[in-house]
Amino acid sequence: MIKNVWKLPLRISNSTKNNGFPVTKYWIHSQPNFTKNNFNIKRGNFSHVEEEHLYFFRKLLGESRIITDLSDLEKYNVDWNKHLRGASTIVLKPKTTEEVSKILSYCNNNRLAVCPQGGNTGVVGGATPVFDEIIVSTELMNKVINLDEKSGVLTCEAGCILQNMDEFLQQKNLIFPLDLGAKGSCHIGGNVSTNAGGLRLLKYGNLHGNVLGLEVVQANGTVLDLLSTLKKDNTGYHLKHLFIGSEGTLGLVTKVAIQCRLRPKSTHVAFLGLQNFNQVLKTFYKAKQDMDEILTAFEVIDTPSMELANEKLGLGSPIGDYPFYVLIETTGSNEKHDEEKLDGFLQTCLNKNFILNGTVTGEVSKYKAIWDVREKLPQGYIKDGFVFMYDMSFPLENYYKLVEDLREHMGSLSHRVFGFGHLGDGNIHIQISVKEFNQDVANHIEPYIFELTKKYNGSISAEHGMGFLKAKYLNLMKSQESINLMKNIKQMLDPNGILNPYKVLF
Ligand code: FAD
Repeated sequence: MIKNVWKLPLRISNSTKNNGFPVTKYWIHSQPNFTKNNFNIKRGNFSHVEEEHLYFFRKLLGESRIITDLSDLEKYNVDWNKHLRGASTIVLKPKTTEEVSKILSYCNNNRLAVCPQGGNTGVVGGATPVFDEIIVSTELMNKVINLDEKSGVLTCEAGCILQNMDEFLQQKNLIFPLDLGAKGSCHIGGNVSTNAGGLRLLKYGNLHGNVLGLEVVQANGTVLDLLSTLKKDNTGYHLKHLFIGSEGTLGLVTKVAIQCRLRPKSTHVAFLGLQNFNQVLKTFYKAKQDMDEILTAFEVIDTPSMELANEKLGLGSPIGDYPFYVLIETTGSNEKHDEEKLDGFLQTCLNKNFILNGTVTGEVSKYKAIWDVREKLPQGYIKDGFVFMYDMSFPLENYYKLVEDLREHMGSLSHRVFGFGHLGDGNIHIQISVKEFNQDVANHIEPYIFELTKKYNGSISAEHGMGFLKAKYLNLMKSQESINLMKNIKQMLDPNGILNPYKVLF
């Protein structure tokens, strides 16, 4: 029996207050100059959540799996960086595919916009409602469905947390083919929907290769069973790829089948100090040459990033100060063989003066401490005033050029321009810290940064997606013909446009 103890949330309008959130004026916690008006965006022609809708959701999920309380809504309405705040008045927490199907079918019929949300660790505003979209959270869809220990195929629900899955696999001597700094919170469904890259991509490749099957609920509630666990299946179009990286705009992922690997028997991490970026590149090419089969990660950190880790996180370089740092991880099946290879490689790099100093370890606690410096950097920069964040990829010869250009371009307008990232995949995270958000500074950075990215043959989103923040720049990267095709696909799969509006395609 469902008790009628609900409070109807205040109706939202574009210009007035929503449950106490001033929805149009301040869109960002601490940055009063950063408002939704900066994006020049209008609410779509969607219905508002009314009592009759609440009645339906309440009947379907019960009270405990619906959130309407203002303070409880906060963590779902605000993005990980605390840059963006949506104005959703309701979070729904389905437990089953059937419930998701009923929710989407109902929303579609009633023209209610929906924002799918996993762990809410995305950094381009994809999981944050822009207006009052209904948040459908996968956090209660967190069961392992099956693990075939022999083949290593894991089938799980979309809301499983990445770290939980990796710990579960560890007991079976297997490893998840994806790892990233947000692993303690991000969901597998979110990972798939963003086509997350992360720290092991160099060895295991991206999710388009590792995801074997998906179950997806379409905008009209139709359940699409693409949950194959076969490695080879060329029967018709490969529909699962449409949903990998589509950021919740084409369907809601409910289940994932993924190819996991045998857990490596030996892991080594080297942390190196280098004189300049040219030496970083030489070291990378040598690493590929000497130990490609065991190379799992090749990460780079520049000096200002390390200074930030020092100042904001109390973390530091274990080898003293250098212009550039490189973190190399190797994993393999033979401790002695891997150690010998890594030692030989390091010795050659030292002899050739590619590297100035370094430390290497095979001890779990020590290599975790080294990884901490790299993985925790995003936690540091959110404490560095207002940070403009970019996630680019480049051909390696152009990898660091944009950071240098930006330093000159910004001059005294910013207090820190820094870059770090997955060099092994050509992926760099570039940050520009300023004291507080200022539209003139924003205009000074964008579109300059994107135009230069294009000039250097790069991508303006390597692994984070377009979400809300980058969507308006899609035309810089894709031809009109490609964008038209994307729009046609969106129109076909979601004719009412209820799924994550204002994201990816503006
Ligand atoms: P959310 O943030 O909840 O959602 C992300 C997008 O996917 C949104 O558009 C949302 O609508 C959609 N979505 C979520 N779940 C579903 C679903 N079930 N069905 C359909 N759509 C859905 N990213 C990397 O690629 N590599 C990194 O190395 C990396 N490191 C990070 C480190 C830190 C500290 C942080 C905070 C973030 C990092 N990220 C990284 C970004 C982020 O963690 C990834 O994008 C992650 O995959 C998002 O997963 P999530 O569950 O949090 O998704």
